Amino acid sequence: MKFFGAHVSASGGVWNAPANARAIGATALALFTKNQRQWMAKPLTDAETSAFRRACEEYGYAPAQILPHDSYLINLGHPEAEGLEKSRAAFDDEMLRCQELGLDRLNFHPGSHLKQISEKESLDRIAESINRALDRTHGVTAVIENTAGQGSNLGFRFEHLAYLIERVEDKTRVGYCIDTCHAFAAGYDLRTAAACDATFAELDRVVGLQYLRGMHLNDAMKPLGSRVDRHAPLGDGEIGWECFRYIARDSRFDGIPLILETPDESRWAAEIAALKAFAEE
Ligand SMILES: [Zn+2]
Ligand SMILES: [Zn+2]
Repeated sequence: MKFFGAHVSASGGVWNAPANARAIGATALALFTKNQRQWMAKPLTDAETSAFRRACEEYGYAPAQILPHDSYLINLGHPEAEGLEKSRAAFDDEMLRCQELGLDRLNFHPGSHLKQISEKESLDRIAESINRALDRTHGVTAVIENTAGQGSNLGFRFEHLAYLIERVEDKTRVGYCIDTCHAFAAGYDLRTAAACDATFAELDRVVGLQYLRGMHLNDAMKPLGSRVDRHAPLGDGEIGWECFRYIARDSRFDGIPLILETPDESRWAAEIAALKAFAEE
């Protein structure tokens, strides 16, 4: 079973997200559980968490169909003590919010060395940040997203994901999310079925597909290996439809949220319909 959706608005409150997903024909959804541009949010009340759980039930979204995303401010590999502490506290809080909402995974960008420490030192900090958050919460998997490698962002090599997972103590609560635009920008070709075969074989060899907990389906505005993170609507970018047809038809990507973060929201319903049609071919 394939679950296709988009990163929908939760404005007005997290309980509004499921209806927004239903309105575009989605069978999966992503959301921010708080304002992604602020460090801290008021804790969720029991009334808020139960309204969210009720909405998920009403519209038919189980935890395996939902991929919450954390705040962009958080840098779990921060080179400085103060920035690292602030990021870790905010990340712990994001994990706790997911736990309270009955969600089973949290998607996040690994972090940046900001050119002040080595890649390895920053990756070690990220791994420690994940271990710390897992110690403080239960039932929520930390889902590391691959990045385009823009600036000093880590996570653009599959080896980075493998390095982090290897250092997480509880392997049952760590996984990763592959963003197709980020992978392509980082140099992994996805333009043809043969290229997809090779890229996903490498992913399986280096990290292991058993840890895959979600995907972001985005086309890419910039060419292969550009290291620039610019999403395009499906079929409008450098990757093209063949990759998304490949993913929709491949059972290795069953049972996880497959999420659009494409720029034109008015096209989400049509993009989801196209993906569903591929899956049924
Ligand atoms: Zn993404
Ligand atoms: Zn992106």
